[in-house]
Amino acid sequence: MINLKSPANRWAWVEIDQAALRHNVREFRAIIPRGVKMMCVVKADAYGHGAVACSKVMLSAGADQLAVATVDEGVRLREAGIEAPILILSEPPVTSVETLVEHDLMPSVYSEEFALIYGEAAAAADKVGRYHLAINTGMNRIGVLPREVVEFRRAIDFHRGLECAGTFTHFATADEIGGWDFELALNRFVTAVDALREAGIDPGIVHCDNTPGTILHPEARMDMCRVGIGLYGLHPADVTIPKIDLRPVMSVRARVTHTVYPEVGDGVSYGLTYRVPKRNVQIATVPIGYADGLSRNLSNQMEVLVGGARCRQVGRICMDQFMFAVDVNTNRAFHPTHPVEFGDVVTVIGWDGDQLITADDHARLRDTINYEVTCDFGLRLEKVYV
Ligand SMILES: *Cc1c(COP(=O)(O)O)cnc(C)c1O
Repeated sequence: MINLKSPANRWAWVEIDQAALRHNVREFRAIIPRGVKMMCVVKADAYGHGAVACSKVMLSAGADQLAVATVDEGVRLREAGIEAPILILSEPPVTSVETLVEHDLMPSVYSEEFALIYGEAAAAADKVGRYHLAINTGMNRIGVLPREVVEFRRAIDFHRGLECAGTFTHFATADEIGGWDFELALNRFVTAVDALREAGIDPGIVHCDNTPGTILHPEARMDMCRVGIGLYGLHPADVTIPKIDLRPVMSVRARVTHTVYPEVGDGVSYGLTYRVPKRNVQIATVPIGYADGLSRNLSNQMEVLVGGARCRQVGRICMDQFMFAVDVNTNRAFHPTHPVEFGDVVTVIGWDGDQLITADDHARLRDTINYEVTCDFGLRLEKVYV
């Protein structure tokens, strides 16, 4: 259903379907065994969906913990009154330790220097600095090497200001079924955690599955699953589609701000890369551009929906606006007397009637993944929660 309430100051917005979000959280809660915690990943402003509002929905629908990428993202959640445990998915700079302690945010840890300075800051505030130890099992992005894990913990565990609340790793290939690389990484992780336990060291909450892991690798759910993209109704890979029912949460809409019938042969937008081929081609303007996350690489490639019909986007996408063509000669929705009008709702992502354009459609055209598409639309567009 199209939400007809557009923001007061701009005829372009991201629509967030809270019922779809709640549905997705419950779908994951239903496949994650009771007793296994669910951590919802709301980094990058909840993949562009708005972290504060989404976190509240997630916590009320069964999430136990939250994860963000940066200290500031965590602070924003605390300032909005969110009290659930919050993990920062990498080790922030040492200059952030006071902020971490003040707002009770758990950093990922994989350097001794950071750990001890964080422990000092916690002790000085009469608090315990909880953290999660990250282990590098093959992605080679962050983390302590498996063979160094016991030694690492021994080097920092003396500090009374530190408490290891969890131990985790992140898989490079969780979206593949039956892959050797996944087996190897999982094996390295299990071995490292076992080594900690054998040395009498408590690893805290042990976790490694992301969205594809949670769906495809139940054997790796352990104490907690970290679910991200699936909550937003998008699949990390084609292989997860038949396994769980997810509903897209984000739609991107705008209203037509201008229309014109150019002369045949006239062009549209910078460089005039599209030329009007015949009479009765209407050019309509939409106030969304690449500064709103609509990649310029989609120029002359994408479609939009208006009145339940598909129209070709034409000409180069500008920073704040783009144009599309309505072929009044042939477009069944408008033919022949109903061209688009000032104020008509245009759907860039989402449903209009029986037509749908998805973040995956954009990802395919842009040669990227749906994650980047929704993150990008979070950049500047106002979010309307329905
Ligand atoms: C982003 C991220 C996740 C969530 O990944 P999805 O594929 O979106 O589920 C989980 N863990 C870590 C460490 C991450 O960086």
